[in-house]
Amino acid sequence: MLLHLFSSDGCTKIPGHKEQTEEGEISFFDPEKVYVPGVDNKGLPLDSRVEAGAEVKVGTLLGVRKDFGVPIYSPISGKVSAIVKKKSTVVGRPVDFIEIENDKKGERITLRPLEGEINQANVVAKLKEGGIVGLGGAGFPTFIKYNTKDPIDTILVNAAECEPYLTTDYVTCLKYDLQDMMKALKVLMDALNIKQTFLVTKLEKVKMLEKFQQEVDKFGDPRIKVKGIKSVYPAGFERTMISLALNRTYDKLPSQCGVIVNNFATVLAISRLFFYGETISNKVITISGLVKNPQNVSLPYGTLVKDAINYVGGYTAEKASLLLGGPMCSECQMSDDVPLLIQNDAITVTPVKTIREEPCLHCGNCIAHCPMNLMPVEINDAARRGDFDKCFDLNVLECVNCGTCSFVCPSHIEVSGQVKQAKLMTTIKCPRAQRKPAPAPKKEPAAEAKK
Ligand code: SF4
Ligand code: SF4
Repeated sequence: MLLHLFSSDGCTKIPGHKEQTEEGEISFFDPEKVYVPGVDNKGLPLDSRVEAGAEVKVGTLLGVRKDFGVPIYSPISGKVSAIVKKKSTVVGRPVDFIEIENDKKGERITLRPLEGEINQANVVAKLKEGGIVGLGGAGFPTFIKYNTKDPIDTILVNAAECEPYLTTDYVTCLKYDLQDMMKALKVLMDALNIKQTFLVTKLEKVKMLEKFQQEVDKFGDPRIKVKGIKSVYPAGFERTMISLALNRTYDKLPSQCGVIVNNFATVLAISRLFFYGETISNKVITISGLVKNPQNVSLPYGTLVKDAINYVGGYTAEKASLLLGGPMCSECQMSDDVPLLIQNDAITVTPVKTIREEPCLHCGNCIAHCPMNLMPVEINDAARRGDFDKCFDLNVLECVNCGTCSFVCPSHIEVSGQVKQAKLMTTIKCPRAQRKPAPAPKKEPAAEAKK
């Protein structure tokens, strides 16, 4: 598959906007309350869900997700005060959230650290018991990646952080000791007989590459190496990263080409679980854009966005667009009364842009730049006709919501938002989409097709 990439030294630049936060310290915010989803990603109630009135500590089990059987643990200590309805940015509608009042004692209970023989079964079981999910935006359960039958030869630790404004990985890497992370990677490699790991970030992040190299040298396992990749968008997406770092491609899953990709923050969380039995509680997020004091903040997941914004001094504009994540992948929020989910890694406040959408020029830009080799304009035409069978054939389910097609559209059409909607409708309306995964892409690479 030919990958289409945006190069920061190419004809199209995506401004980084990282200077607001990349040199600053990480501060700590302890909110009065947090709101943890009481449902899974499909909106189904957690099994064994905790009731209002329960006393909890950091690490108390709050319930178990029905979709993947992953446990959810409390990020703070205190008391469950209520089950309330709040908008879930994953489910897309108001769902039950577990409201926890913070006693600010920070008392924690831990699981048993990883014990016994280092093998795949033990590691997978611990990752599942610990409720580890991808912390780089997707929230996909990590144990599933390691529960593969495919032979894996490489782990990629993804620290590309290609979204504009985001600097959590960069700042965390520079501020903290990473030896526990190295130990965790050694365990993962030993358990699955994996021969190499690369800590991957963009070549332009010189200080980060140097820090990674220092940590690798200090740890001294020759299987762990550092790799700088080209500064392109979307370098942080699995398919792109695997292509840039290893020159490999795959059809459906990275494991098909022998690779597991883990986000940098996720591997740090794995190390805390393996060696200290700690479940995920606080995470570092970048709060930037039109706020008074942009910075990276360590806070418990479940913090309300409005509380986090107040912590950094509030908005600096009366009208602004609020994004949970960076501007390329995230949708604008209608309200800041929403909880931060465990996978959210940024709050970005951008100027409101009044853009007049023009008719489609059929220029093919969205096709030429889609990193998944999709045809967004064709997908959206089919969706407008209500032809979701066609959307399925056009592999709409492969869309990774990277936002590139909207960014390159000269008519300022919200192409990626429409593709996202088409994807949702296809899963509902197209029986084939419910029965089996989408077929492998059939179309020729766009660059070739345009010749
Ligand atoms: S949002 Fe989807 S369709 Fe648009 S460029 Fe990204 S992967 Fe392709
Ligand atoms: S980039 Fe915009 S104008 Fe060009 S084909 Fe795609 S949707 Fe149409």
